[in-house]
Amino acid sequence: RYFWSGVEMGPPDNIFGLVEAFKNSTHPNKVNLAMGAYRDEYGNPYVLNCIKKAEKIILDRNLDKEYAGMSGFADFCADAAKLTFGEDSPGLSDGRIATVQSISGTGSLYLASTFFAKFYPHKVVYHSNQTWGNHAQVFKSAGLEANTYTYYDKSTCGLNADGMLKDLRELPSGSIILLHASAHNPTGVDPTQQQWRDIGKVLKEKGHLPFIDMAYQGFATGDLDRDAFAVRLLEREGLQPVVTQSCAKNLGLYGERTGALHVVTASKEEKDRVMSQIKILIRPTYSNPPIHGARLAVEVWRNKDLYKEWLAELKIMSGRISDMRKALQLGLETNTNRKWPHITRQIGMFCYSGLETDQVTLLREEHAIFMTKDGRISMVSLSNNNIEYVVNCISKLLI
Ligand code: PLP
Repeated sequence: RYFWSGVEMGPPDNIFGLVEAFKNSTHPNKVNLAMGAYRDEYGNPYVLNCIKKAEKIILDRNLDKEYAGMSGFADFCADAAKLTFGEDSPGLSDGRIATVQSISGTGSLYLASTFFAKFYPHKVVYHSNQTWGNHAQVFKSAGLEANTYTYYDKSTCGLNADGMLKDLRELPSGSIILLHASAHNPTGVDPTQQQWRDIGKVLKEKGHLPFIDMAYQGFATGDLDRDAFAVRLLEREGLQPVVTQSCAKNLGLYGERTGALHVVTASKEEKDRVMSQIKILIRPTYSNPPIHGARLAVEVWRNKDLYKEWLAELKIMSGRISDMRKALQLGLETNTNRKWPHITRQIGMFCYSGLETDQVTLLREEHAIFMTKDGRISMVSLSNNNIEYVVNCISKLLI
């Protein structure tokens, strides 16, 4: 049989490829700092207690496994939209936000991209000059082009706000602008609230379409409202953002593939049209979304005790990340005679360390410390068990 003899071996995925290499390593102290999935202080995967309890409640209900419908569970969509835009959202009270349940953040980004490819006149998505490694692949695979605007300033390990605003001003009017709602991946650099206002002003002046990826609501600061500031600001400014929402990180539902896509439209009638077309895109691809994660999310969101416990667990997770940032900064400053202020200035799951590619390679080859080649450290993978080892190995490289 020669059906596939012409198929060439493809390159491994940047992140999942590293995870594979990590699994294969026999080094006794190996550390995986590449993967963005929360770990507890002992380095173990963490299932939220509110989710474990929701799971029991749902099991006891003896529910069926019928299809959810193309747009998913109505309760899930309603709650996800409220969590994203806030109870007092003008779009929600007017009934002009189209929401569908999606296959987590990635599925939502892909669905939005196919919608743009079919219905939006501009076919380029502009993203920050560093962004999550999968963004451009998703856009291209949906038939769009991907291009960049200035964002990260290497000299300060912070935001180049002037450069960003300048680029946004110079792009063709009506461009699709991808923004990270909070906890920018990979840089950990978020605009301040004032900078978001400035960004909103330019987006409005230029008639750009804000395409907001919200993968870390509540996971950045531990506060759901604060992490949704940008989305809510832009919506209240009348900008009609398209928002992709993931429940992977904040509810720990990684493998359950739970999320939503929200398209703010101009009227209820427009929303109905948009909704009908999104369903037409869903039907031939995955037909309808997975039900288990959505049921769990709704249980946590609607059960007062579980909701309270969720808020507390968000604080625990974001607090542990913040403790690890302090420990990493202190360790490196003690051992290298350099200042590392950006480690605690950055926010969210990742630290953009400033380590160069050759240093990252040495860490992997000599010490079995795995991270992406841009020097991004997954803070959630650091724990009391491995931080000393990581600090010592990085310090050895630098002195
Ligand atoms: N967007 C960003 C910025 C991310 O970091 C991630 C996950 O790492 C996602 C989207 C999508 O994640 P998922 O598809 O697991 O919800």
